[in-house]
Amino acid sequence: MIFLLIFIKNTISCGHQQKQTQNIVSKVTSYFFYNLSSLIPMAIKKVIKRNGSEAVYDPEKIRVAIQKANHEVPEDDQASDFLISEIIRSLELAKKWTVPIEEIQDFIEMQLIKMNKAKLAKKYIIYRYQRALVRKSNTTDDSILTLIHNDNKEVGQENSNKDASIASTQRDLIAWEVSKDLTRRMLLPDDIREAHDEGVLHFHDMDYFIQPIFNCCLVNIKDMFENGTVMNGKLVETPKSFQVACTVMTQIIASVASSQYGGQSVNIKHLGKYLYATKQKYLKKYKESCPELSDEEIQKIVDIRVKDELASWVQTIQYQINTLMTTNGQSPFVTLFLELDEKDEYIQETAEIIEEIFKQRLQGIKNEVWVYVTPAFPKLVYVLDECNILKGGKYDYLTKLAVKCSAKRMYPDYISAKKMREIECGNVFAPMGCRSFLAPWKDENWEYKFEGRFNQWVVTINLPQIWILANHSEEKYFKLLDERLELCRKALMCRHERLKGTVSDISPIHWQYWAIARLKKGEKIDKYLYGWYSTISLGYIGLYESSILITWEPHTTEKWQAFALKVMRTLKAAVTKWKEESGIGFALYGTPAESLCYRFAKIDKKKFGEIKDVTDKWYYTNSYHVDVREHIDALSKLAFEAQFQSISTWGAISYIEMPNMQKNLPALESLVQFMYDNIMYAEFNTKSDYCHCCGFDGEIIVNEDNEWECPQCHNKNQRKMNVTRRTCWYLGENFWNAGKTKEISKRVLHVS
Ligand SMILES: [Zn+2]
Repeated sequence: MIFLLIFIKNTISCGHQQKQTQNIVSKVTSYFFYNLSSLIPMAIKKVIKRNGSEAVYDPEKIRVAIQKANHEVPEDDQASDFLISEIIRSLELAKKWTVPIEEIQDFIEMQLIKMNKAKLAKKYIIYRYQRALVRKSNTTDDSILTLIHNDNKEVGQENSNKDASIASTQRDLIAWEVSKDLTRRMLLPDDIREAHDEGVLHFHDMDYFIQPIFNCCLVNIKDMFENGTVMNGKLVETPKSFQVACTVMTQIIASVASSQYGGQSVNIKHLGKYLYATKQKYLKKYKESCPELSDEEIQKIVDIRVKDELASWVQTIQYQINTLMTTNGQSPFVTLFLELDEKDEYIQETAEIIEEIFKQRLQGIKNEVWVYVTPAFPKLVYVLDECNILKGGKYDYLTKLAVKCSAKRMYPDYISAKKMREIECGNVFAPMGCRSFLAPWKDENWEYKFEGRFNQWVVTINLPQIWILANHSEEKYFKLLDERLELCRKALMCRHERLKGTVSDISPIHWQYWAIARLKKGEKIDKYLYGWYSTISLGYIGLYESSILITWEPHTTEKWQAFALKVMRTLKAAVTKWKEESGIGFALYGTPAESLCYRFAKIDKKKFGEIKDVTDKWYYTNSYHVDVREHIDALSKLAFEAQFQSISTWGAISYIEMPNMQKNLPALESLVQFMYDNIMYAEFNTKSDYCHCCGFDGEIIVNEDNEWECPQCHNKNQRKMNVTRRTCWYLGENFWNAGKTKEISKRVLHVS
């Protein structure tokens, strides 16, 4: 049939030279030809793109490219639709299965020349070259220049712990822009990039995608202390004293922070041993040098000496962490995990260190006008257990101090050892910096291991957008959810693939000197990406907005609650399935969504217009959280959110918004006891701001124009105030984007 058509076409074009007839015939024949050829199975299935990724072969793209070149040449030199179809046909006959794009283009050029369409071939080559130029030209000029001139608000506010006006931070942000640009143009598959742009999902930390580094981790500080480590090519031996251990610890934190982009945690209990060593050192020293003193007198002197040393080195940790600037242009995202482990022989020393940390945190840290303010780092997470839950335990005094500290400085956050053991096979362990949790995993000795493990990456799904599109149809909703989950899996695999094959030299502190592993130089990290050693997280946002979209009621109502849980279980079932199929530690994670709450809401507002209580409020609600505007008491909120925590075990934290509670500590103590019995991980939000203009110490408010304003002197200059707010996991202190600011201003109190 095809040959018959070609024959007819050839006969007609030989016999009659009138262009009109030729055009009509060519249109008719190409119609037949094209529809017919679609019946024949194509030999080419896939195209390898320049970035190495594969795409489904689409002949229509070739047609469009030649047609575009057609417009550039006189009519006589143009290729008819029929001719184009024929080029495509011969290509499909000549090539099989998977073909590199360059090969296809070369083939087309040759065919055009063969068919005496030299002018067209030339234009096609120029068109192809221009496309290549567009692909290769960078699009970052404007964003970088506006960044340097401090006009790039979006970049500046994407992370409230980065001050974009500082030169060293700007260097990080410039790298961020370049990485994002390269990732978008060269590295991401088209469907993932489009899904990110359309707000279907959020491909987190695109700014760090070009380098094979991971998100967050639990630093194996114990082994680094006991076996020594290496930094900058210099051996750091086992510390012999508390002083050296503290210095080594902060150096490790700085070094680890510079070669990953998320948070890290260190368990303070590993310092206990070195405080004990310092005590022994002084005992020996004074016994030798003052033989005339009694044991009691010597103990007294040693106690004073050790106390001084403890205070000065805990202060050093606090100062160093707050003043360090990592290569990421910010203080390291670090969490100090404050756990009283009854099996630990140095538990007494650990308790002394925790007490000192709380005392210093309570005092705060001085700002540039010599006023004590709330520092954002390090984050403190304190473990509630039988020994300190205010029921007559030995360490109750520490919990009382912790509560006092939370009331004034927001930290510490609280982990209930009781609830965590229930959920995590009897284990208690730290979040990886922020709120990302590992799952229990056993090493070759069949022992649980947490320190030295990490999270590869996060991708977040936009739940409200699915509801908007499903238009009240539950069936449609779950179908679309499934489709989008598959896209999320593909996006997560992009990151996983990027890490695969990386050699340990990329970050010696992580891979060679024990923060994670002790690999040889040049050895690949791959085994840590499999066997569920590390996690890779599916985040979610806007369970509250989803409930509004379906029932016009929040998910705290009984009617919706069951449905919200159903959505959560669907998400969990998806990651469990992926996990089992791949051997990769897929995990479900309640996204903190500092700037994302704004981005998704903004995209959806633009796409779907204002939807009451959904897109009209500038922000989407963090993970499974109750909407910040909802009037709900603290106990109900914690009890309600606890049921989601037990599903979202790889990432969850709940918070209580409070007024100034410093004068009502017993109320907070009972709240902490309630947390212990009911929820794995929770925190308090308080307000302890400071105005440099008038010395106001209290809550600086967000006015009607969405600006921060001192209620006493009405100062609106952000450079002349210290405002610290919880922006989901860490405290932020450099102000936030418009959506987050709106969200902060709408927060209602859960304790009155
Ligand atoms: Zn003021």
